[in-house]
Amino acid sequence: MREQVGIVGAGVSGLTCAVLFAERGYRTSIFAEESGPRITSAAAAAIWFPYDAEPAEAVIAWSLETFEVLRELSGTPGSGVSMLELRSFSRAGELKIPAWAISLGARRLSPSLTPSCFTSGFTLDVPLTDTTLYLDYLAERFRHARGEIHVGVRLDQLEEVNRDYPLLVNCTGVGARTLLPDPEVEPHRGQVVIVPKTPQSHAVVCDGPPLMYAIPRANDCVFGGTNELSADRNADPATTARIIAECSRVLNIEPPKVLGERVGLRPFRRSGICLRADQLRDGRPVIHNYGHGGSGFTVSWGCAHAVQVLARTT
Ligand SMILES: Cc1cc2nc3c(=O)[nH]c(=O)nc-3n(C[C@H](O)[C@H](O)[C@H](O)COP(=O)(O)OP(=O)(O)OC[C@H]3O[C@@H](n4cnc5c(N)ncnc54)[C@H](O)[C@@H]3O)c2cc1C
Repeated sequence: MREQVGIVGAGVSGLTCAVLFAERGYRTSIFAEESGPRITSAAAAAIWFPYDAEPAEAVIAWSLETFEVLRELSGTPGSGVSMLELRSFSRAGELKIPAWAISLGARRLSPSLTPSCFTSGFTLDVPLTDTTLYLDYLAERFRHARGEIHVGVRLDQLEEVNRDYPLLVNCTGVGARTLLPDPEVEPHRGQVVIVPKTPQSHAVVCDGPPLMYAIPRANDCVFGGTNELSADRNADPATTARIIAECSRVLNIEPPKVLGERVGLRPFRRSGICLRADQLRDGRPVIHNYGHGGSGFTVSWGCAHAVQVLARTT
């Protein structure tokens, strides 16, 4: 009898899995230490873009599946999902357009549309999930399907979840490093700066070092970014100043005022995203779904569907 499911983690991975289970009739509860602005999912920009996650082949497959779900959601008012032009650039040489981008209609940008600090780029329309709206949208959709969210529940081991839940799904992000423990998980710290809306209506991304992006949202713009091995969740003022300077230089605008800073720990896993069925010490089955690195939103629905398949066969 598996009708009751306990999901551990209230970030984008946990919420997306929870929505699928609840809407398919499972009595589903989320247990999480934290939700809201302090978790990694709330720090993300979050644009659809495969980045800093392994293994490439599976990441692309889950990403393309997620692309279709998010594209459909962009027609749902209040979801926080919209379609946005992404311009991806390189700082040296000719940027090779990845096969996944070509399959979605990417086109090379002409030199006149390439900022002078870059050498080449491509353009593509992709989903943007405005995290200030999207995480609440998922939580509301989950509650509407009779799901329950319990925040403030810090687990030292998964077996602590009440035995009423015969199936667990582990979506603890970087928390899996200590919870399981899984030493393969590394915190790839990212800091972003929230600024008022800028004149540009498209996203600008350069994922070659130094990482740089400017992503316009409905009410503000997200400037980034950083990617370093660190678990420090505090914003660093010098990093904020550097991000503002670099984004203003690329966009050719006056440095905007800072509305806020966000820090998140991308749950990178050296041997790749962990999405597999396992057994707890008390015999209960658990499905792991963590380690999505810098692509948690980009792969969210593809991974959640894969979790569903495992739940039916475990
Ligand atoms: C600056 C930045 C920008 C990013 N931009 C993008 C982007 O543009 N596109 C994209 O796709 N991705 C992006 N990412 C990556 C994305 O944010 C992550 O991959 C994603 O948020 C991971 O989600 P998650 O639900 O797996 O983990 P989290 O959001 O970290 O959630 C983990 C949950 O598990 C809970 N938890 C952990 N340990 C325990 C425990 N022991 N007991 C109980 N609960 C526990 C936490 O409290 C939390 O609720 C970005 C990340 C950063 C930092």
